[in-house]
Amino acid sequence: MNVENSSDLARRIEALKREKNAVILAHYYTTPEVQAVADFLGDSLALSIQAQQCDARIILFAGVHFMAETAKVLCPDRKVLIPCPEAGCSLAESCDAGDFAAFKARYPGYKVVSYVNTTVGVKALTDICCTSSNALKVVESLPADQPLIFGPDRNLGSYIQKLTGRQNMVLWNGACHVHEEFSLEKLLALKRQHPAAKVVVHPECRAYIVEVADYVGSTAGILDYCGRSDAREFIVVTEAGILAEMRKRYPEKVFIPAPPDDETCACNNCRYMKMVTLENIRACLENESPEILLDEEVRRAAERSIRNMIAIR
Ligand code: SF4
Repeated sequence: MNVENSSDLARRIEALKREKNAVILAHYYTTPEVQAVADFLGDSLALSIQAQQCDARIILFAGVHFMAETAKVLCPDRKVLIPCPEAGCSLAESCDAGDFAAFKARYPGYKVVSYVNTTVGVKALTDICCTSSNALKVVESLPADQPLIFGPDRNLGSYIQKLTGRQNMVLWNGACHVHEEFSLEKLLALKRQHPAAKVVVHPECRAYIVEVADYVGSTAGILDYCGRSDAREFIVVTEAGILAEMRKRYPEKVFIPAPPDDETCACNNCRYMKMVTLENIRACLENESPEILLDEEVRRAAERSIRNMIAIR
């Protein structure tokens, strides 16, 4: 795409938003062009909250499928559009609702805590959702003797288990293809080249990566930490889309993306988030389709688990 096409598309999208009373919510992992047409930019927790606070007729979710579903769960009276319905999430796909129901049935009396990176069907089986920003708070809000199922991310689950010392917690065996791919060897080599750099890590990474971090946190947490820290250089061990926002907020600092194990695969980029483009956003606004439609009973059950999370934010 040339620059002229890109700016024409952006102008058309702005006009469509005004004409149709639409807002665009975009995740930090989308491309910089997509982030530039967004009304709100954030991580999944911030965007879930933003979805219910805005009063637009149409919410277009520039992100992956489960995020648009979450917006629809919270805003059933609004038209929620997803420009690329094929944009899934390897983590959400690692947890099929039918398999999760069977897993849950093996643990009667356990409460279910699920990461928001799940389908609406899994959220409907969940007592309380969490994000990487508030997972610790959510787990700590439940009595220490309450046995828990935590899903679907095994890395986030074991990190929380380690922080809380909770033994009575069983983990679903799911993971994100981006965060599992970072190489410890390459990260340590990068650290030797930049000894003053702080290593900032998302808790969806494997435990041996988390162990060498100076800071572990959600996308929003990492952004805050980089602003607060006196350090000038950071090695960023999460999805590379966040770098655009980091460089915009803190132009005086240096952000170095950690390489994935296989550097030819660009796997520190979420391939699903990059499926959202200016072209499919424009077509989606023009056609008001594809739209997220949910079974009302499932939606209500999922809403309870999300609202439980928002209540203890
Ligand atoms: S980075 Fe991983 S968890 Fe996030 S949307 Fe992409 S596949 Fe899902």
